Amino acid sequence: MASQPERPVLLTGWGRTAPTAARVVRPRSAAQVARALAEAGPRGVLARGLGRSYGDAAQAAGGTVLDCTELTGPIRLDADRGEVTVPAGVSFERLIAHLLERGYFVPVTPGTRQVTVGGAIAADVHGKNHHADSSLGAHVRSLTLAAPTGETLTLTPDGGDAELFRATLGGMGLTGVVTEATLAVLPVETSYMRVDTDRTDSLDATLDLMSRTDADYRYTVCWVDLLAKGSAMGRGVLTRADHAGPRDLPPALRRDPLRHRAGSPLAAPPWAPPGLLNSWTVGAFNAVYRGAAPRRRRGEAQPIAGFFHPLDAVRGWNRLYGPHGLVQYQFVVPFGAEDTLVRIMEGLSRAGAPSFLTVLKRLGEGTGGHLSFPRPGWTLAVDLPAGLPGLGRMLRRFDELLLAADGRLYLAKDGRADAETVHAMYPDLPAWRKVRERVDPDGVLVSDLARRLRLL
Ligand SMILES: Cc1cc2nc3c(=O)[nH]c(=O)nc-3n(C[C@H](O)[C@H](O)[C@H](O)COP(=O)(O)OP(=O)(O)OC[C@H]3O[C@@H](n4cnc5c(N)ncnc54)[C@H](O)[C@@H]3O)c2cc1C
Repeated sequence: MASQPERPVLLTGWGRTAPTAARVVRPRSAAQVARALAEAGPRGVLARGLGRSYGDAAQAAGGTVLDCTELTGPIRLDADRGEVTVPAGVSFERLIAHLLERGYFVPVTPGTRQVTVGGAIAADVHGKNHHADSSLGAHVRSLTLAAPTGETLTLTPDGGDAELFRATLGGMGLTGVVTEATLAVLPVETSYMRVDTDRTDSLDATLDLMSRTDADYRYTVCWVDLLAKGSAMGRGVLTRADHAGPRDLPPALRRDPLRHRAGSPLAAPPWAPPGLLNSWTVGAFNAVYRGAAPRRRRGEAQPIAGFFHPLDAVRGWNRLYGPHGLVQYQFVVPFGAEDTLVRIMEGLSRAGAPSFLTVLKRLGEGTGGHLSFPRPGWTLAVDLPAGLPGLGRMLRRFDELLLAADGRLYLAKDGRADAETVHAMYPDLPAWRKVRERVDPDGVLVSDLARRLRLL
């Protein structure tokens, strides 16, 4: 196998909280993955992608972590079948660039391109089109899974082992290591989006506009301002978009409409003081951001990179949260439970929670993955400094509100919830365990998240 430092390496998620040490190996082929699984030590094995899950999902204290980012190779587009076959360690950055050049786009992308195909399937990621297209799992035509039993399995949504397929979507790497996947692709004519933007003045206006108009667009998302006071709390900037055609572009861009402009990211400073992001600095950012957005604009051509992945413009932005790191709290509550959504937003606002990245979205139908997060309802994602006084108590109170409203937390973002809470939020957990035990009877696959939440 490629370079394999025997010394344990400290790993964290994107939130940079709760580091744990593991031996890291970098398999370059499915055969090397199988060997690593066969040689698992007593503390188990886990696949890791680009480490963009926020909490402890891609860590395995004392065990072996398979850094899958070298599981790469050719990307095979089959235009006739409308699908692409891709090694699981390939990043969305590379996949998107490859597809756009040929007039296609990924069926679903999360808010960063810095994820691997394997990590995206393991979290069953959703994007701004969830209300229209569901999550990534709905577009996986097949996947190859290396199981701890030594088998290499090809899984499809309605093939022989559809149950294991479902268990793997959102299964957080605990059913095996995905080594390759075939995904449906979306034909596009340009690498631009046709974007409509609206500013809203209150939370009621935000919810109302989203409810009325989401269905008119393939992609929608709303940035909300929780630090605004009084009736302005929850005011937002709503962007809704569809893929642009050549006629939507200014003449200068029509000459090369598929040219992908991702740009080179700026680097965040390597160190930031604790407390840099507080209610003053973030409040000021929010006011400037909102002020810069048009009250109402129609049909703006925005490059795909800017529309889907604005955060990728600053490399290592998570370091701005200082040495204590950040917690992302993302939940979904069913439609009809708007009271709970509003109570949590008001709670965050009262606490002066300095989140400059508060994103509200409406989700559609799920994929049926046992541990897959999305379900119809409102999802809110808030980034919070991990050192915020009283944070743990406040989030536990929100967990209780979520439980009462039949809501749930997103495992790919979580690093703090307790086992009982998550078990109640994921009623398919016992069924998932049964499927898992079939492919991992000796409990080889493990993660810090799985241990903390007693998933196994
Ligand atoms: C800025 C930002 C924006 C984001 N926006 C969104 C969003 O809009 N929607 C959304 O759904 N998520 C979003 N995420 C979360 C992110 O998409 C997921 O956490 C994704 O799983 C990260 O992929 P990764 O390759 O970094 O995997 P890692 O974080 O390294 O691992 C995540 C999980 O995948 C498993 N895994 C990794 N590779 C494999 C493999 N080959 N086989 C089996 N299991 C594997 C790991 O064991 C772990 O459980 C965002 C994250 C960031 C930092």
